[in-house]
Amino acid sequence: MADGWLDTPYGFAGKKTWVAGARGMVGSAVARKLQREDLLGDERFDLRDQGAVREWMQDSKPDVIVLAAAKVGGIKANHEQPAGFLYDNLMIEANVIHAAYEAGVEKLLFLGSSCIYPREAAQPMTEDALLTGPLEPTNEAYAIAKIAGLKLCEAYRKQYGCDFISAMPCNLYGPGDTFDAERSHVIPALMMKAHEAKMKDADTLDVWGSGKPLREFLYVDDLADALVFLLENYSCEKPVNVGSGAEVSIAALAGMIARIVGFEGDLIFDASQPDGTPRKILDSARIVKAGWKPSTALEEGLRQTYEWYLGNRERACAA
Ligand code: GDP
Repeated sequence: MADGWLDTPYGFAGKKTWVAGARGMVGSAVARKLQREDLLGDERFDLRDQGAVREWMQDSKPDVIVLAAAKVGGIKANHEQPAGFLYDNLMIEANVIHAAYEAGVEKLLFLGSSCIYPREAAQPMTEDALLTGPLEPTNEAYAIAKIAGLKLCEAYRKQYGCDFISAMPCNLYGPGDTFDAERSHVIPALMMKAHEAKMKDADTLDVWGSGKPLREFLYVDDLADALVFLLENYSCEKPVNVGSGAEVSIAALAGMIARIVGFEGDLIFDASQPDGTPRKILDSARIVKAGWKPSTALEEGLRQTYEWYLGNRERACAA
């Protein structure tokens, strides 16, 4: 085994698997990818409730857990609700990880985020950038919770020998996302705003910030593929970056979304809204070297996401 990669893959077949957060964008993509009869049904209780999580774990006794449940949101929601993002995510992680240890779960994969790395980290960011500097203030609460989650996995591995691993994806998008002009991430927010502007025959589309920040986007089905790859092939306390390697400015992204949606008006950049971190691209060399690669180009992924949005508007906007 080198750098955490297994010589013999973890035998996943026949294992009882629980995708925590299976109704969310990432969880539903993982469930789509696995499509197995030994997939446990999604939980219908509050993962912040320690007693409920322990009871579920003891009753359903999963062998494998993908911890995809989290409170997520875009730059504005993160900035305005630090208590919610910190508390909810700490509780979910602590409850699920501890109960998994108590129940003797064989393998657990925790999902983090590229915002765990310092704002001024050298780009592209390697896993070694963790805890080397201050975080981006607009999502510090969420990042602190995600760092705590990966440290929990590391600690349970060290102290109790649990096979708990962590993946750190770049910005994600795809079917099952939350589409809300105020709370969601940039892709669903702009897609929804562009769609509504087109329907109303509006002349302009409001894009937050300067348009200059650079982001890396990964289609959620590609992430699901990477997560299964990690469950099968990785066992180490060090988190693994999972990115697409494709970087785009927010201005170019907004133009692409407008084109796909068919909005022909002007893009107006609203400087009163925050830019957030100027650049956020992962160095995903470790997982790429191990044999995984993304397969969905941004343009194609955006088209599929818009198609999903058109067919699921009620669910997309109420999520
Ligand atoms: P971040 O990667 O944590 O900053 O998350 P977001 O996806 O919320 O935002 C990414 C970038 O897109 C930021 O620079 C935002 O200012 C910019 N952006 C432009 N328009 C929008 C919008 O309508 N909603 C959101 N959430 N971000 C936007």
